[in-house]
Amino acid sequence: MKKIAIIGGGISGLTAAYRLHRLGVDCTLFEAGTRLGGIVETHREDGFVIECGPDSWVAEKPWARELAIELGLGDEIIPSNDHNRRTYVLQQGTLVPMPEHMRMIVPQGQAGIDSLLSSSLFSEEAKRAYLQEPTRAAELKEYAIAHAGEDESVAAFVARHFGQEVAEKLAAPLLSGVFGGSIHKLSVHAVMAPFVALEREYGSLIAGLAARQRSGASLFASLRGGLGGLIERMSAALPPASLRLHEAVTALTHTGNGWKVQAGHGQASFDTVLLATPPQQTSALLTSLLPGAAELLPRDSSSAIIIALAFREHFPLPSGFGFLVPEGSSESRLLAATFVDQKFAHRAPDQGRVLRAFFADEDLMDLPDSVLVRLGMNELTNILGHPLPEPAISLVRRWPASLPQYEVGHRERVAALEEQVASLSGLRLLGNAYHGVGLPDLVRQANEAAQWAASM
Ligand SMILES: Cc1cc2nc3c(=O)[nH]c(=O)nc-3n(C[C@H](O)[C@H](O)[C@H](O)COP(=O)(O)OP(=O)(O)OC[C@H]3O[C@@H](n4cnc5c(N)ncnc54)[C@H](O)[C@@H]3O)c2cc1C
Repeated sequence: MKKIAIIGGGISGLTAAYRLHRLGVDCTLFEAGTRLGGIVETHREDGFVIECGPDSWVAEKPWARELAIELGLGDEIIPSNDHNRRTYVLQQGTLVPMPEHMRMIVPQGQAGIDSLLSSSLFSEEAKRAYLQEPTRAAELKEYAIAHAGEDESVAAFVARHFGQEVAEKLAAPLLSGVFGGSIHKLSVHAVMAPFVALEREYGSLIAGLAARQRSGASLFASLRGGLGGLIERMSAALPPASLRLHEAVTALTHTGNGWKVQAGHGQASFDTVLLATPPQQTSALLTSLLPGAAELLPRDSSSAIIIALAFREHFPLPSGFGFLVPEGSSESRLLAATFVDQKFAHRAPDQGRVLRAFFADEDLMDLPDSVLVRLGMNELTNILGHPLPEPAISLVRRWPASLPQYEVGHRERVAALEEQVASLSGLRLLGNAYHGVGLPDLVRQANEAAQWAASM
């Protein structure tokens, strides 16, 4: 039997281990921490379900849903409360609703256009740019064809369609809410590929989206008991002896016909290695094997601090999923906040509330939990305009360097890196540094990596 090592027990490494197990292949999973799941973690207490990392997956991508069903969690899948899917942007001290019926920056059908036109977020000039975009379809398509395959920043792409104001007021907070990065650096090919494809086919994004309009399925999905359910079910399915927790891998050596993995208590030999660590650790483990790898891995990763607050008392909130703070805002240190019990059902007991406040500021990382909770409460109080009751539960999670930045040229760098890795037989990279940061893409990549390892 071939020996396979997986390094890193986040959703990527754990899904690969689970998939190998389902294929009837044993493996050893090394995880530096004392628990599996990496950034995916659910805290359940007194009827509250509190996500400490991701809270949902994008419903239109099937792989996380398929995994949940395979794990017996099909009945647990819940949709986001899309009838209440409003998101706000903080602007001059006020929470201004983003236009509704939008697919990110693109209005969906007449309802989206109507919502844009009545929005106080945009100037008359920006509204005109939206109205004119479908009439510029031929010119936009011509540009797309002439520059096919050339990457550019999200800011440049959005501005070409809808102008600079839309890039700054809508794309910037939306993208920094998801990727924590600047639209001037993020690669449109890597983070908005479906829109690039729409542009190539239709020129106009508005016309393209209308042509492809789908049914009113919910935008996000989650699990009633939290996404930690995926981690718990996969962990339980694996033989306990295959899970090596608290064993950070410190060195990886290629022996010509296999691999030596140096972890906590010694060295072990393997035929195949799946490296599912974050890019900084991947870079360190590959330094002597592939000296050029560090240059090809994402160099920057943004950090997140989550302050989760659970309240027994009900209090008023603007209706919707939460709000975003524009990058570089002088009005608040927050990056965003989620009104958790309004976004999903089953998150709080009757009359209870759950809020999550996000900071991305590296300088806050070392502050004690109590100070971060107070800071989060103060920021929320200022923005919501009323004091909050004392939370029954408050949790702080720091996720340093957790979201790799897919900067312009990302896809080409990843292709070059994968070519180099392929030259070392029996090694494959997976995780959120390559082909998507969201859970469905990570599950898909982990499935593919497991199939590949099993077939070696
Ligand atoms: C705050 C936040 C909110 C998010 N929200 C969403 C969301 O709602 N929906 C969504 O789809 N995505 C979301 N994401 C993205 C998604 O959660 C992550 O991309 C994903 O969880 C990363 O999984 P991973 O397994 O690739 O990496 P990780 O979860 O980072 O796991 C890597 C693992 O490797 C281990 N490790 C590191 N070094 C070593 C070593 N030397 N030896 C052994 N083990 C090692 C680490 O301890 C860790 O457990 C969010 C991300 C963040 C940070």
